[in-house]
Amino acid sequence: MLTVEKARNIITENVKLLDIQQVKLQETSGRVLAEDITALFPMPRFDNSAMDGFAVKAADIAGAGKDNAVSLKMIGGVSAGDPGDLVLKPGECAQCMTGAPIPEGADAVVMVEDTSGYDSSGTVKIYLEAYPGKHIRRKGEEISEGDVLIQKKTKITPAEMGTLATFGYKHVQVYRSPRVALIGTGDELVKPGRPLKPGQIYNSNLFVFSDLANRLGAKVIIDDIVADDPKALHTCLSQALMECDVVISSGGVSMGRHDYVRKIFMELGVSEHFWRVAQKPGKPLFFGTTADTLIFGLPGNPVSSFIGFMEWVWPAIEKMMGITASRTIPAILADQFPRERVKTRFLFGRAWWDEGHLVCASSLKVGSHMLSSSLDANCIISSEPGDKPLQPGEMVQIRILPWKSIP
Ligand code: AMP
Ligand code: MG
Repeated sequence: MLTVEKARNIITENVKLLDIQQVKLQETSGRVLAEDITALFPMPRFDNSAMDGFAVKAADIAGAGKDNAVSLKMIGGVSAGDPGDLVLKPGECAQCMTGAPIPEGADAVVMVEDTSGYDSSGTVKIYLEAYPGKHIRRKGEEISEGDVLIQKKTKITPAEMGTLATFGYKHVQVYRSPRVALIGTGDELVKPGRPLKPGQIYNSNLFVFSDLANRLGAKVIIDDIVADDPKALHTCLSQALMECDVVISSGGVSMGRHDYVRKIFMELGVSEHFWRVAQKPGKPLFFGTTADTLIFGLPGNPVSSFIGFMEWVWPAIEKMMGITASRTIPAILADQFPRERVKTRFLFGRAWWDEGHLVCASSLKVGSHMLSSSLDANCIISSEPGDKPLQPGEMVQIRILPWKSIP
């Protein structure tokens, strides 16, 4: 059976970056940049005042103090947005507001609090001296024209959004969002809201999948349950393959009498890369490709499909979107953790900081049907194959669930 590591490599080799599209700035939240963003002009763009106050020549007010006021002639005022065409001569000052261009000839700003303020006399008393450059934001002091501000493949968050707007970008190039199909298979599945007949269960997997897909920024094109009926499956899966970049199914991919998913994917021309992985839960895991589509057939048990999505599908979609795929990190076990002889073992768990160490413990609910094991989890813990359970104090790898934090 294929090891987890080999299976990961196979998926990585088959993931292609999605194509690029131009998008309006306000529609780029969460998208990934497909271009380096450079500064189109220096920042600040011109010398401007950092304070509301008076622009002066520092030499004019040398030695000014509370008991030694220097009077200057006020020649006018500049506000943010003014073109800034005032010229200051010795003995003069100009009222200036935060963000206003510094008048030519001025080399410092005195805060209004350190002056007598503006009155109709036409002179202003200055109560504090200033060094040249004081309270002036210099042209280019933050960023030079042409600097790379944001690198290609960065995800757009509020900081990137604000920076793009600062430099006047109206449109940016981003990777296209993947179109995904989420397909739940099983005669027993019922949509929440309808009554359950004996033997039936509610479809929960697709609700997990669609929330995960939305968190990734993928576009869910198909989200439907299908009976274990080869004809119905054929129709649904073939449409999914035509319309989507990623097809994710749950259930029907194992050894059961009604497990048709794998066979139908193959009939539809999907090349199978693997069908089983040495992992628990989720051994039956189908991965295949067509020219344009990645296909993941996850098993139906709710924990197998949730963990399967996080371990296999999530990193692949991240990679398609240009995001560096999230990694696992080491943590110290607080409790025993099971191991399988030849399989990697995954369980939902909790991780927390304890005196600077990242510690974790798995859920006590270990069945692959026990979705409630995910409820207070903030990570997925995994152990490599081995003979004996891991003991408290030993290291494991954990994958932090990206929407959770570590207390
Ligand atoms: P399967 O992989 O089709 O053999 O299904 C394994 C188990 O998962 C069975 O108990 C199914 O009833 C259950 N199951 C399959 N699909 C879903 C689903 N969409 N939501 C919740 N449970 C499911
Ligand atoms: Mg089934």
